[in-house]
Amino acid sequence: MLDIQAIRKDFPILSRKVYGKDLIYLDNAATTQKPRCVVEKIEDDYYNVNANIHRGVHFLSQAATEAHEEARKTVRQFINARHAREIIFTRGTTESINLIASSFTDGFMKEGDEVIISEMEHHSNIVPWQIQAARKGIAIKVVPINEKGELDLEAFRSLFSEKTKLVSLTHVSNVLGTINPVKDIIREAHDRNVPVLIDGAQSVPHLPVDVQNLDADFFVFSGHKIYGPTGIGILYGKEEWLDRLPPYQGGGEMIATVSFEKTTFQELPFKFEAGTPDYIGSTALATAMQYVSALGINNIAAYEDELLHYATGKLQEIEGVRIFGTSEHKSGVLSFLVKDIHHYDMGMLLDRFGVAVRTGHHCAQPLMHRLGIEGTVRASFSFYNTKEEIDIFIDAVKRVTAMF
Ligand code: PLP
Repeated sequence: MLDIQAIRKDFPILSRKVYGKDLIYLDNAATTQKPRCVVEKIEDDYYNVNANIHRGVHFLSQAATEAHEEARKTVRQFINARHAREIIFTRGTTESINLIASSFTDGFMKEGDEVIISEMEHHSNIVPWQIQAARKGIAIKVVPINEKGELDLEAFRSLFSEKTKLVSLTHVSNVLGTINPVKDIIREAHDRNVPVLIDGAQSVPHLPVDVQNLDADFFVFSGHKIYGPTGIGILYGKEEWLDRLPPYQGGGEMIATVSFEKTTFQELPFKFEAGTPDYIGSTALATAMQYVSALGINNIAAYEDELLHYATGKLQEIEGVRIFGTSEHKSGVLSFLVKDIHHYDMGMLLDRFGVAVRTGHHCAQPLMHRLGIEGTVRASFSFYNTKEEIDIFIDAVKRVTAMF
């Protein structure tokens, strides 16, 4: 359904060489490449529409403000939020989670209250809670995973207590590729009157996401993983929660009135957007989302699933391969080790064949500990990858393996 060769032409970087070889970019879970339209949007905005937003009466400022607010509407539509004011622009997933960890703890948690996370979380959904634990004495409960790399849902249910105030889980694991059943999880948490934050960093670029259908209370992701620029991300929150949360940062834009005696805050979404926002990033992110929408997120999901199955099948044929994450519900990520070859050596040598993969702990050290390993080699796919590229990648893995 997707014309991959035509799509690849939209991504100039894909035709560059590394060490004289064709670049095979399989590090899409870390960041995605940018289509020409996104880069051109940034250039065009700086050349033609640049002015600080929200404050100016002049033409350019109003044009830039309008573009920024239009971008918010595009994001709203992309994840089907109810209102544009439920979309907060942040620097990325990490900042979005830090915002909620800080504001939610300040607004709704006291010493001894509990947040539930899981063994498969990225550090960005662990450390912000640990900071709050140190600050405010909240406790962190951890859902274990099973041998396939899926959440243990029985254990999840057993972690709830009357002190549970929030569940914060990833939608798709950046190491295992597991797609968690977040809709069921949210329903179960809501049955116990507990709100849920979903880390959608690895889901939004690859799967259809409808925050109203999921009934997520908070949903966060990064622009750069969905073909947009770096430095911009999204916090979606239900209006009823965002309205009640205290602000995260103070400064310009987020206030209604300021005196030395008392400051009042702006309404949503501005209450959470202190300082000059990344109004160039927001419009470029909207362009990226329009690009993805034009391809069709369901087409993308189906094609990437095909790539994942193809790569998994080929990789499994190599003697001594261990794949981490074997759930039937996976998206675009293939983590593995071959025999006792160090992940770093494998990654470095694959690079010499032009194949870009990620190696290491993938910002998930507790998960590595659970798996009893130091790190993995991770290939992660996008709609611009091809089966021919996977063949070259697999061949390179075989050649590296033969060297040891
Ligand atoms: N959560 C998950 C599941 C991720 O994969 C990542 C990035 O790899 C993050 C959070 C952090 O994203 P960012 O560094 O863009 O804030």
